[in-house]
Amino acid sequence: GSTITLHNLAKTYPNGQKAVRRLSMTVADGEFLVLLGPSGCGKSTLLRMIAGLETISGGELHLDGKMANDLQPSERDIAMIFQSFALYPSMTTAQNIGFPLAVQKQDHDRVNARVHSVAQTLGISHLLDQIPGRLSGGERQRVAMGRAVVRRPSVFLMDEPLSSLDARLRARLRTEMLAITRSTGATTVYVTHDQAEAMALGDRVAVMRDGVLQQIDTPRSLYALP
Ligand code: ADP
Ligand code: ADP
Repeated sequence: GSTITLHNLAKTYPNGQKAVRRLSMTVADGEFLVLLGPSGCGKSTLLRMIAGLETISGGELHLDGKMANDLQPSERDIAMIFQSFALYPSMTTAQNIGFPLAVQKQDHDRVNARVHSVAQTLGISHLLDQIPGRLSGGERQRVAMGRAVVRRPSVFLMDEPLSSLDARLRARLRTEMLAITRSTGATTVYVTHDQAEAMALGDRVAVMRDGVLQQIDTPRSLYALP
């Protein structure tokens, strides 16, 4: 994984909206950090700045100790998973999962082998020839996870990836997701507004409010607060 360091990171949108205000924290190599806070507090904005999908208005982002403010998304070793799945609708499961490798012009047989291995881990080997329109919500999210892990990125950024699923499926995929990210050794930042989810998943939980980091600690310590 990579170490992610934020120094006074800030985002002001062109309309004047201050979404993130001088936020500082370090996410350790291999850590699973949950970013918890109510809708509109700036979680997605922060994640998008780390991914390079949103410009940084102030402060510095460091990836493995190197200044990363101006790196293109493709220059960061990061995979992002969204709530909306964002699968390619006309591609099969195998093509969706293999896409990040195919665009790197990797050898066809190697891509195939890697896709099969990832699909097996996720329990979707029997769905490799299906297009997303034929899959259930949970199956689609597994494909999205497969596409994210296939390159073995050093950072995963997840923006409420399970919030469109029902509670039972959410709990199951939560466990699978933890196992997969752990197995790659990647550093993960996971956004949610669900406190129970944060407590279940996070090595540490960063609590955000109005663009500010309120506290950051282990679930155990956060629970012990009055
Ligand atoms: P969430 O709360 O789930 O992060 P939102 O509904 O706030 O999502 O935002 C959805 C999309 O609309 C995002 O791409 C976000 O950047 C954009 N957006 C949110 N608020 C504004 C705004 N005030 N002006 C312009 N775009 C916005
Ligand atoms: P969260 O992910 O915690 O729901 P967001 O990062 O989506 O929060 O939004 C933080 C704040 O910034 C909100 O007030 C939202 O309306 C605003 N915002 C988000 N995207 C935009 C945008 N593109 N333009 C203007 N304001 C935005």
